[in-house]
Amino acid sequence: MPATVSLHPLLDKGVPKGASGFTGGVLVCECTTKPVRVKVEGDVAHNHACGCTKCWKPAGAVFSIVAVVPHDKITVLENGEKLEVVDKSALIQRHACKGCGVHMYGPVERVHPFQGLDFIHPERFQETGWSPPGFAAFVSSIIESGTEPDDMPAVRARLTELGLTPSDCLNNALMDYMATWMAKKSGALKS
Ligand SMILES: [Zn+2]
Ligand SMILES: [Zn+2]
Repeated sequence: MPATVSLHPLLDKGVPKGASGFTGGVLVCECTTKPVRVKVEGDVAHNHACGCTKCWKPAGAVFSIVAVVPHDKITVLENGEKLEVVDKSALIQRHACKGCGVHMYGPVERVHPFQGLDFIHPERFQETGWSPPGFAAFVSSIIESGTEPDDMPAVRARLTELGLTPSDCLNNALMDYMATWMAKKSGALKS
């Protein structure tokens, strides 16, 4: 088993530090000509490493880095004609660049606890200082992308070492958030 498990080119160097008062920036895709540029106002929330098979990941990454922002904080600045939705039937309408494949933003439009939020990949910010990832979600799913099951203890140990508490769903805060939304909808909790 490798001494250092590779998770993501950025995380392998240590979790990036955030800067207090990050006010947003511009996400840029990987195209060298006519890159898609998307403005995000304000900082990201619930930033995390994700092991699911749907999130965009850079070359060499086992996990994505993904966070949410309110939909009304997103503005496509340039070359939006290169965007297309990866899977129109998915909860998250991931808008990917047809040139390079980077997912630029993914709104949740249907009735769901995450409705009104967009999933973005903060590593595409041309600026630094965004809130860093704070946990790891859907960790077991990396097996679906080809990670050997025997490597999972080392992966989870490395995530824990980085302060990214591993979970096989979302973290407690987001699972509670979703359950609260559903309980208010059903009437089990008063809103
Ligand atoms: Zn591109
Ligand atoms: Zn994911």
